[in-house]
Amino acid sequence: MDHILQKIKEYNTIIIHGHVRPDGDCIGSQYGLYHILKASFPQKNIIITGTTSDYVSFVGAPSILEDESLFENALSICVDCATSERLSDQRYVKSKYSIKIDHHIPVDDYGDYQYVDTTSPACSQIITEFYMKFSDQLIMNKEAALALYVGIYTDTGRFKFDSVNSRTFNAAALLLDNGVDLGYVDNNLSIETLKTLKLKGYALSNFKYTDNGFAYLVITRDIINEYEVTDEEAAALVSVISTIEFCPVWALFIEYPTEIRIRLRSRGPVINLLAEEYHGGGHAKASGASLSNWDELEGFVNKADKLVLEYKNSL
Ligand code: AMP
Repeated sequence: MDHILQKIKEYNTIIIHGHVRPDGDCIGSQYGLYHILKASFPQKNIIITGTTSDYVSFVGAPSILEDESLFENALSICVDCATSERLSDQRYVKSKYSIKIDHHIPVDDYGDYQYVDTTSPACSQIITEFYMKFSDQLIMNKEAALALYVGIYTDTGRFKFDSVNSRTFNAAALLLDNGVDLGYVDNNLSIETLKTLKLKGYALSNFKYTDNGFAYLVITRDIINEYEVTDEEAAALVSVISTIEFCPVWALFIEYPTEIRIRLRSRGPVINLLAEEYHGGGHAKASGASLSNWDELEGFVNKADKLVLEYKNSL
């Protein structure tokens, strides 16, 4: 962390990168770091590059940086992203120096310097701890606190996942002390449209499960079009099948225009190795991957089913 602060002090232009289809933790980390650095170093040019997610746009809605010349003398800081190919703006390679700050199991050591803490349930927690370590030199404000709190809140499943530790609550306490309005956060994250509620009904009626306890839901383009929801709204369905008693592993297969994404989750077996077999990765209990075509679905389901069986036999 000392090295990161030293680099931040060295550069006048700092560009903060996130990953494609950003989640609350990605946007939270980007905006949290952005507001801390802007408040602490008002003379520096702090920029966010990346894409937006509607459900956390109340924190901030970035777009891809247009002026490529800004990278020339810049420091790029890439947050919440395990692999360089998943970054929404890969021009960190054009920057003078680049740093990865992440909490995922490392798959690809991109950048000139990496700060990876896999014991942190959210990258936003790492950014908060970065502030805590240097609170004599950095400034926290309400905007940064909101962003970081949203990052921690969403990536811990609202403080429910077993990756939550006492540091998480210390970080959250500091953010609350800096003005986070819990009702505002919860309202923004919980309100649903009628369309997404109806899609949830479809999900509950149409999910499948294997003999050994792998539950899954297939969402095709046709379903997304029929229910008139966004891809992002459809992707949120992964949590709908998370509580089935005998299914400790579950997944959502969602057909995007260019790929079939798998959102894989577990409350028992380690799943990131299975995700890595399908062009993905992530955490032991929350991973992402993709299928090249629907013909690969059966093979994936069989492997996931076997994984659950091995897990149950080991208990
Ligand atoms: P998701 O289902 O997209 O929310 O992904 C779950 C977790 O796995 C997140 O923490 C992602 O950062 C990670 N992840 C998703 N896709 C990939 C991938 N292709 N490679 C590495 N990690 C991934």
